[in-house]
Amino acid sequence: MAVKKPKVQKTNGTCATCGASFGKTAMKKHVESCKRPARKRSSYPIPLKTKVFTILVEGSFMHEYWMYLEVPANSMLKKLDNFLRYTWVECCGHLSRFTIDDEGYVSETEYLFDSKEKSMNYVINKVLSVGEKFGYEYDFGSPTYLNLKVLSEHEIEGEESSISLLARNEPPLVTCNSCGKIAEYICRQCGCVGEGWVCKDCAPDHRCGEEILLPVVNSPRVGVCGYTGNC
Ligand SMILES: [Zn+2]
Ligand SMILES: [Zn+2]
Ligand SMILES: [Zn+2]
Ligand SMILES: [Zn+2]
Repeated sequence: MAVKKPKVQKTNGTCATCGASFGKTAMKKHVESCKRPARKRSSYPIPLKTKVFTILVEGSFMHEYWMYLEVPANSMLKKLDNFLRYTWVECCGHLSRFTIDDEGYVSETEYLFDSKEKSMNYVINKVLSVGEKFGYEYDFGSPTYLNLKVLSEHEIEGEESSISLLARNEPPLVTCNSCGKIAEYICRQCGCVGEGWVCKDCAPDHRCGEEILLPVVNSPRVGVCGYTGNC
């Protein structure tokens, strides 16, 4: 029986503030104008402001996975790394790296292979500015690559140190390679070559064995290593 190529159906995303649904491009305009609830007020008599960047993150080879983030400019790269891990990629504590202007910033300094690479203890404001594109990779053995872009900056009231998710894609629907129904699992072994998307009915008969299947999750790391979704 011929194996059909998986059909990934693109989905809209949802605005985390108001619940509106838009495609990736239209969402940019929306998140930059959607009124966010007031943040916590500072206790100082002089109102404090925090500079924040709006950043788009997407899977390098899987553009159907995307998020818009609001990132305080005074946070460390490490914090963005932690956010990306928690939300999208963490499976078993692999190394990760940002690449900004051809410089590598690696998660574990003691594992730096190359003395030219830096740690992630850099303030985002010092290494990034509006318009800049940069890269991220998680797990150098079975890597997941992400593309990031700083879209804009603005100031918000109060003192803010946490990264906020502004919007992200709804789970894309992928069809089973054998029968065309919606896939619920992906095979760790043949999933990486675009095959191995399996529906519930076909799972027991999958050629690599049922125990090797991972759940289909809303992340560009779907089907890789032991990734089963947000930890
Ligand atoms: Zn909104
Ligand atoms: Zn892993
Ligand atoms: Zn099937
Ligand atoms: Zn398989």
